[in-house]
Amino acid sequence: MHDFEYHQGELYCEQVPISRVAKEVGTPCYIYSHSTLIRHFRAYDSAFKNIPHVIAFAMKSNSNLAILSLMAKEGSGVDIVSGGELFRALRSGVPASKIVFAGVGKTADEIREALKADILMFNIESSAELKAIQEVAASVGKKARVALRINPDIDPKTHPYISTGMKKSKFGIAADRAVEEFTLASSMSHIDVAGVHAHIGSQLTEVAPFIAALKKVVTLIETLKAQGINIRYLNIGGGLGITYSDEKPPLPQDLSDALLPLVKDLGLTLVMEPGRVIVGNAGILVTKALYLKEGEAKSFVIVDAAMNDLIRPSLYGAYHEIKPVNEEAGHRAKQQVDIVGPVCESGDFLAKDRLLAAVKPGELMAVMSAGAYGFVMASNYNSRPRVPEVLVKGGDIHVIRERETYEDLVKGETIPAFLK
Ligand SMILES: *Cc1c(COP(=O)(O)O)cnc(C)c1O
Repeated sequence: MHDFEYHQGELYCEQVPISRVAKEVGTPCYIYSHSTLIRHFRAYDSAFKNIPHVIAFAMKSNSNLAILSLMAKEGSGVDIVSGGELFRALRSGVPASKIVFAGVGKTADEIREALKADILMFNIESSAELKAIQEVAASVGKKARVALRINPDIDPKTHPYISTGMKKSKFGIAADRAVEEFTLASSMSHIDVAGVHAHIGSQLTEVAPFIAALKKVVTLIETLKAQGINIRYLNIGGGLGITYSDEKPPLPQDLSDALLPLVKDLGLTLVMEPGRVIVGNAGILVTKALYLKEGEAKSFVIVDAAMNDLIRPSLYGAYHEIKPVNEEAGHRAKQQVDIVGPVCESGDFLAKDRLLAAVKPGELMAVMSAGAYGFVMASNYNSRPRVPEVLVKGGDIHVIRERETYEDLVKGETIPAFLK
């Protein structure tokens, strides 16, 4: 569900015509719907109302300060993966007591910053990292709350790049070595073993892999309890999929209905790290058609957005629905085209072999479901300034990130004196 609908022949975000935003900030631009964000967060939160829980929004999916502030206001925490994300989270008013820190390569500096902020816990990805956290915690005289991330060896049946819970993955600690690692962790002077973590992948469209992973984790928790290791938190990660084209992923309530019977009697606080399911369908990328090009074998629509603005199609072969902003344009004869950007790479496309109503140069198009892993993955490749982000609330337009300038492009660069 989202709030990008046609009214009077034109695509709107809530009560604002997309063309008005385009006029105000130019194209390309990202547009997010406030009401959609709120609805998605609340749907997730209320699905788990019958169990103590913390929602730690996976901010790698969208880390704009305004989006994070909105989440914090709703009572969300965040899942961070770097010192930079910690900085953004604190700047946005996310309470440290709701911040969890994941990622396989935390540096000593990042660990120190997180300890200083007194975050809820670290999600530990390896025994080497466990030792590093023990050392840093000892050096600053603090005890680090941790959850060990278990790799349950479950195939989440998603794209290999976003599958994280299988044996060959770089993430987590192998399930059969878990008890050993937990025992080691609980013997460490500056480690407080608070939880178990498992995140098996992203864009999951079935409940079954979540259940399979959870069953393994619950068995582990029971074993640990029997050994006197008192687990208080169970972190089930994120990963719930969204509809990009015709997927029918479970709703947060379906997930809750399936998972709660397995965990409700364990006396644990549930931690969840949804990202995509909150922001994915709450955002679009708006682009303008520049040229039509009839190639020998293919037809191209060349648009002003490119892989540096939205890399998911190039990186994962991801599908994003593309809609004309002018509804009438959608009724024209359909044509098979590639939608490509101006970047000098053959991999620069937003859609391939797409049957699309004919567009005319100058017309606006909306790349749907672009709120997650969209702007955050943007780069300046080809010296393209990164595009603005806009939050629409009701009838109001809020620019939450300005378009970068050419000066921004060269910020921090210097020409040494010998070259002058
Ligand atoms: C990426 C990630 C998430 C969020 O995944 P979504 O599919 O966006 O919900 C949650 N937890 C961890 C550890 C992650 O790496």
